[in-house]
Amino acid sequence: MITNFTIVLDYFLNNLIPESKLAVNKGNKIFGAFIIRKTDMSLTSIGTNNEIENPIFHGEISAILNFFNKNHKNLKDYYFISSHQPCSLCLSAITWSGFDNFYYFFPYNDTKLTFNIPHDLNIMTQIFNIDNGNYTKNNDYWTSYSIIEEINNLKKYDELSIKIDKIRKEYQDLSKYYQESKYSNKIPLN
Ligand SMILES: [Zn+2]
Repeated sequence: MITNFTIVLDYFLNNLIPESKLAVNKGNKIFGAFIIRKTDMSLTSIGTNNEIENPIFHGEISAILNFFNKNHKNLKDYYFISSHQPCSLCLSAITWSGFDNFYYFFPYNDTKLTFNIPHDLNIMTQIFNIDNGNYTKNNDYWTSYSIIEEINNLKKYDELSIKIDKIRKEYQDLSKYYQESKYSNKIPLN
């Protein structure tokens, strides 16, 4: 389990968010992910949403594709970090890839209400008959964690609140840009 969230939040601020800005400027959604080696917390790969090229190129999928391009072997040696709680497509991709964990910053309800993307929850209800995104958080394949809940459990929220607030603000700005421009894109579920 991750205990040093300072470094994780710094990867958001210094690596994922700058990459996401480039992607959103091209017309993509705001979502992204990155993969960290457990032993030294080094950043191994990043991915951002690229739905303007292919609607299944979610941030998590891009991170996984980039990861395997580098031929890394034992997936149990890595933490998978997602900006937003992964959709059903990405839950499956993380599972099939062999990760034993993932962490996310924003939960489904934020994706729906704050960021105006309701598809994750709708797909789970419509296709899988799962209400409120209530998949099994701890199962035979992986354990999933909310970054904010973990920071609270470690009693580090106050210490990290400036970084947390900055990340929230950055994503709200990205979302504003995406929402204002999305009517001209061809993403099926935009
Ligand atoms: Zn997804």
